[in-house]
Amino acid sequence: MIRVLMRVVRVARQDADEALRRLLAADLVERGRRVVLRGGGALVPLRAPPPAGLLEGVPHVLGEVDDGELPRREQRTTPHASVVELAMREGWPPAEVALLPDRWERLGRVVVLKLPEGLDRREREAAGLYARVLRVGAVLREVGGVEGVQRRPSVRLVWGEGSVTVHREHGVAYEFDAAAQMFSKGNVEERLRMGRAVHPGETVVDMFAGIGYFALPMAVLGRPGRVAACEIDPGAHAWLVRNVRRNRVGGVVEPLLGDCREVAPRGAADRVVMGYVGGTAAFLPAAIAALAPGGGVVHFHDKYPVEDVPARPLAAVEEAARGAGRTARLLCWREVKSFAPGIVHAVLDVGVR
Ligand code: SAM
Repeated sequence: MIRVLMRVVRVARQDADEALRRLLAADLVERGRRVVLRGGGALVPLRAPPPAGLLEGVPHVLGEVDDGELPRREQRTTPHASVVELAMREGWPPAEVALLPDRWERLGRVVVLKLPEGLDRREREAAGLYARVLRVGAVLREVGGVEGVQRRPSVRLVWGEGSVTVHREHGVAYEFDAAAQMFSKGNVEERLRMGRAVHPGETVVDMFAGIGYFALPMAVLGRPGRVAACEIDPGAHAWLVRNVRRNRVGGVVEPLLGDCREVAPRGAADRVVMGYVGGTAAFLPAAIAALAPGGGVVHFHDKYPVEDVPARPLAAVEEAARGAGRTARLLCWREVKSFAPGIVHAVLDVGVR
């Protein structure tokens, strides 16, 4: 059997980061193989011997090992691994490399990144690494939660130009300013579900339309007759109007600027979507009033302690229905996403007659 030998450099474990940084910068590391940590040391696979002086100050031994001793590394490196490699190549101290987050939100040409405090002094550089690896035009740093009635994201532009972007999902294009309007990736399944829930010719009232989170998939994926999309924030409403044009659903979706309690059409809806979190029950009387005389379905969203669902939100809908001389029956409910430990964002589909 032919023995295949691989060139390696052996260093002590505590010197591995420094040796790797220099060897990567000199592009001498054999990338198809893993660095092997063994007995207090590290074996770094080499493409070629390092020139004299490259590892000055790092005790090391050059040698060869059997091919089988160095596991293959899957060629597909994750974007996070590429970011880490770039940081090491650019001489970042390992302690800061370790802080580089391995998750982010990509919204079209924009990435939203949560950076730990330990990277405050390097926030622009860090953002630049992700922008190069993920090939985006702008990086926003998340500096807090979604705030206020208009659910604004707390983000800051730390790299690139502008925060307007187009996010595509399920055949729908959402254009918006990622620094001013929220976009919850966690609601992706619910957006698709609403797109599939509408029946042909239905009249829908979307009470918290935003940039068209639900109104657009309903109009693009379903064949409703009309979607009255209420939005109180002029900024979000302007994007809604643009997105109706962009998705060619102008004949179906009617953007209505204002408080849904005032602008929602009354007595016409087969379906009412209440895609809000944080006190949605206050809008139930307006939702019930929007329903057609024969009744319809209310999709009631809010956040609750997990043990209170569906009983508590259902009781709120039942009470509002009773207040309007109607009855309510739970059709189904689902957890849209975890909101916080022990708290879920849930949606109830309730039939109201
Ligand atoms: N359902 C969306 C989703 O799935 O991502 C989230 C919509 S966003 C959280 C809620 C939207 O409702 C915001 O754009 C906010 O401006 C709007 N809004 C808040 N209060 C409102 C009201 N009284 N009438 C109409 N729109 C309202």
